[in-house]
Amino acid sequence: MTADPIALARDLIRCPSVTPDEGGALTLLENALRRAGFEVHRVTFAEPGSAPIENLYARIGEASPHLVFAGHTDVVPAGDVATWRHPPFAGEVEGGALYGRGAVDMKGAVACALAATLDHLAGCGGKPRGSISFLITGDEEGVAVNGTIKLLQWAAERGEKFDHCILGEPSNVERMGDSIKVGRRGSQNGTLVVTGKQGHVAYPERADNPVRGLVRLMSALMAEPLDHGSAHFGPSNLEFTSIDIGNPTVNLIPGEARARFNIRFNDCHSRAALRTLIEHRTAAAAGDKVRWRFDWEPSNADVFLTKRGPFVDLVTGAIAEVTGRTPALSTAGGTSDARFIKDYCPVLEFGLVGQTMHQVDERTAVDDLVMLTAVYRKILERYFS
Ligand SMILES: [Zn+2]
Repeated sequence: MTADPIALARDLIRCPSVTPDEGGALTLLENALRRAGFEVHRVTFAEPGSAPIENLYARIGEASPHLVFAGHTDVVPAGDVATWRHPPFAGEVEGGALYGRGAVDMKGAVACALAATLDHLAGCGGKPRGSISFLITGDEEGVAVNGTIKLLQWAAERGEKFDHCILGEPSNVERMGDSIKVGRRGSQNGTLVVTGKQGHVAYPERADNPVRGLVRLMSALMAEPLDHGSAHFGPSNLEFTSIDIGNPTVNLIPGEARARFNIRFNDCHSRAALRTLIEHRTAAAAGDKVRWRFDWEPSNADVFLTKRGPFVDLVTGAIAEVTGRTPALSTAGGTSDARFIKDYCPVLEFGLVGQTMHQVDERTAVDDLVMLTAVYRKILERYFS
């Protein structure tokens, strides 16, 4: 008997696991994994200022190689439930699609990884020729401080060593097999602060309006691209998101003006080099006329790339065989937990089609669940052959 990824995905969707709630989703996985012979750990992490969050780590086998399936069972809120075609936590199937919050991001993929693993184990007498793990967090969609980052540390302290990781985030753009994520851009937030001198608008010679300087520096930073992209990444981008002066008085020249921005950067830069580049350009545009500084926010989203090699070839080969498509090696999109995993082992992201993620009527084609299970199954077969 083969495991049914559609029933598993449906059951997971029925667990209302909106971050930070576990909603029964990890218990469901725990039970299924225990039945299959996994050693399962439920670990809760907490930190002042954030909700405590449950996570799961499960392993079967002691030998290497060690392949880990990573993912999350938490989901973003449903929004206005009345606008959904099917209730967001019902897991109903209609017209060949499974509806529900998390269908593609990413309970569907977790279900497929589980179903593929159960099939694989059934085919090899219940024990892999190596080790298989599940590293599942309940804190991906929130602030992500009590999730994968801490679970990896916890596992490392226990002596766990991973050789390779598959993260089941929805990597495909339009159809199964069209792309796999081999890296992610880095992300850096900052605020540009320009200081002037407050005064009366009727006497501008006695004041120094920081708005003038801020506009000058912002245009300089927007004028020139940060780079022209690299072999695997598009160009880095600095995007201003807010200009903040907060001055309610129309006849007052403000003393300070700020602009917030985010940079998505590629592997042409390290984070430190990127900050230096921005500061140099700002200094050149400011001359000795504008008083400025940057407030850089701490960030744990550095750029990374999993290089081509046997693991990438194995996964892309499995995808091509099952889907008939050779996936593009993509680094587009936002950040994911792969940014943490990459410090422990090479990581690739392959999951469902991302089109409806975080939307009303999130859904996946039932056929895609079957196909993704077959891909994971093929990966396991080749990895442990
Ligand atoms: Zn996700």
